[in-house]
Amino acid sequence: MKVIPLAADSLGVRSMATYVEIADTGILIDPGATLAHSRFTLPPATEEWDALRRANDRISAYAARASMIFVSHYHDDHFRSDPATYLGRTVLAKDPHRMVGGQQARRGSELWTMLDAKARPTIADGYERREHALELRASPPLPHGVEATTLGYVVALLVADHAERERFVFASDVQGPLSGVAAGWLIQQRPTLLYLSGPPSYIEGQLGTPLIERGIDNLLRVIDATGCRVIMDHHAVRDAGFGARFERLWSTKRVVTAAEFLGVPLAALESQRRQLWTSVARKPADGARTADRAAGGADAPKRRATIDRPITRTARGGPTS
Ligand SMILES: [Zn+2]
Repeated sequence: MKVIPLAADSLGVRSMATYVEIADTGILIDPGATLAHSRFTLPPATEEWDALRRANDRISAYAARASMIFVSHYHDDHFRSDPATYLGRTVLAKDPHRMVGGQQARRGSELWTMLDAKARPTIADGYERREHALELRASPPLPHGVEATTLGYVVALLVADHAERERFVFASDVQGPLSGVAAGWLIQQRPTLLYLSGPPSYIEGQLGTPLIERGIDNLLRVIDATGCRVIMDHHAVRDAGFGARFERLWSTKRVVTAAEFLGVPLAALESQRRQLWTSVARKPADGARTADRAAGGADAPKRRATIDRPITRTARGGPTS
């Protein structure tokens, strides 16, 4: 089984898009990517827009290889609306009518209207299928973080390869998991590799330290019970201090970010947004060099000199999406 994170917060964008290949079946999971429209009261920096472009290109390339698409929930960083991604494919997607609310219900319904015309959509919640060595099992709706919030529910997915005895579980925005119910489901699946969003310590001031600690404790419990390796990313790396904050997890040597899993440099750009903009402001703007840059010269700046980039529709991630 191949597991390839395609885009992630540790790679510069809000996303958990992942490609899984087992025998001749390619599964694209959560094919969305966004940027936080405001962090530290700043819009995305140029580096983040570049990362978003790369992320979307990569997701599109793997969409072409996939025969199945899975959508865990309807936050913008987890799905796309364009028909091309889903055209003619089997789509497993969260029930847009049950255990879903607010904006997610509207977006889900809109997506399903398109899917009914262009693809073969199936409700993911509780889905099970086994064919030869491949087993797919989706969870019932699990809380997006703690139970009963406006953030709603996500569906997690087990992809098991019985020939290779590998069990990959993608658990989307369970945020730790913060919920004991989610932790229980994860343990039951006996994952060998688990990918989830970690506790959202970047809003620890709002949520309180005991909740973040609960998320860490729950993940340690999953690791102890199953011995799985873990890719922890997304909410967990939006805090610039995530290295120290989650030392209890990293020190197990079982937990890595998506960037580390891929063996590429860490680029948790959203957490560094202030520094990215500060380095722009510090750039000198002398006449000769500015003229050269305006002409697109070799040393044309990689970053813009002022914060003037309009916020486009792709920068729409909410505080905890
Ligand atoms: Zn998310």
